[in-house]
Amino acid sequence: MTSDPAAPTLSVIIPCYNEGENVQTLFGRLLPVLRGLGAAFEVICINDGSVDDTLDRLLEVQKTEPALRIIDLSRNFGKEKALSAGLFHSRGQAVVPMDADLQHPPEAIADMLAQWRDGWEVVFARRDARAGQGLSERLFAKGFYWVFDHLSDVRLPREVGDFRLMDRKVVDTINTMPERSRFMKGIFAWVGYRHTEIVYHQAERAAGVSKFNSLKLLRFAFDGLTSFSNFPLKVWGGIGAVISSLAFLYIVVRIIRTIVWGIDVPGYESTLVSVLFLGGMQLLTLGIIGDYLGRVFDEVKGRPLFIIRKLYESGEE
Ligand code: UDP
Ligand code: MG
Repeated sequence: MTSDPAAPTLSVIIPCYNEGENVQTLFGRLLPVLRGLGAAFEVICINDGSVDDTLDRLLEVQKTEPALRIIDLSRNFGKEKALSAGLFHSRGQAVVPMDADLQHPPEAIADMLAQWRDGWEVVFARRDARAGQGLSERLFAKGFYWVFDHLSDVRLPREVGDFRLMDRKVVDTINTMPERSRFMKGIFAWVGYRHTEIVYHQAERAAGVSKFNSLKLLRFAFDGLTSFSNFPLKVWGGIGAVISSLAFLYIVVRIIRTIVWGIDVPGYESTLVSVLFLGGMQLLTLGIIGDYLGRVFDEVKGRPLFIIRKLYESGEE
């Protein structure tokens, strides 16, 4: 792909899920910025199974902007998969994923491109503050990063989302990764490469509501953790070893006591407590093994990451 003479310099990838009311505003701001860069560009919008008029609005824009390519997925696959679809189809020498709701200012792309031209392979865009987030969300994010840092070998940069610039070789590397569980923040960090950063101010969502509620975020966080760390799976070996050793010592103590002082009154409470405690722990462990097994099951099935209903390129019907 790198040798394609028609390849644009820059690809902007935008996953869109029910963003109909943002399409006009988005392109109204994005296109002037891109045209002012002095570089050939393409914009790839992934319609992630929207049930509103997102696709129609995108097609409307495409009539006047041939650089817009639209990937229409067959249903909602989620942002991470939509992003993967965009990365697979991007042709640019530099690739920038961004959100459709204008929380990521298009103007920052110029800064990122300048850094890339200086030779950086990845340019993070770091938020200067978390817009529109309450204390509980901030605490949740802090807790997540703390746990992630301690449990996995991958370092996630703070306050950096999917908005970033990646060189073609970084994107090519990501495209070779076959896993179905796509925690993109982790994948981006895992591939490494030389990176620098710029700072941007994250705005409020232009229109509509966030597609992520607390439960979805919690699942997302847990998913990210278990795709990048085996610790939750392995820790039980250690805990089991400690408990078995203690149990063994206790058995020795009981035997000696029985020999020396004779048979004691049966300890109903201690039996019940240990049975309940161990039973609970075994269920928890099983649950965690089940989670990883489910993940293996998903990978083994080897289904495609996403299904494209139709690819709309300019000039085609
Ligand atoms: N998105 C998507 N598929 C989904 C959910 C979200 O393509 O299933 C897109 C959405 O249209 C937006 C981006 O992902 O362009 C970020 O979503 P959102 O703004 O709702 O997330 P937040 O900014 O609240 O984290
Ligand atoms: Mg948003």
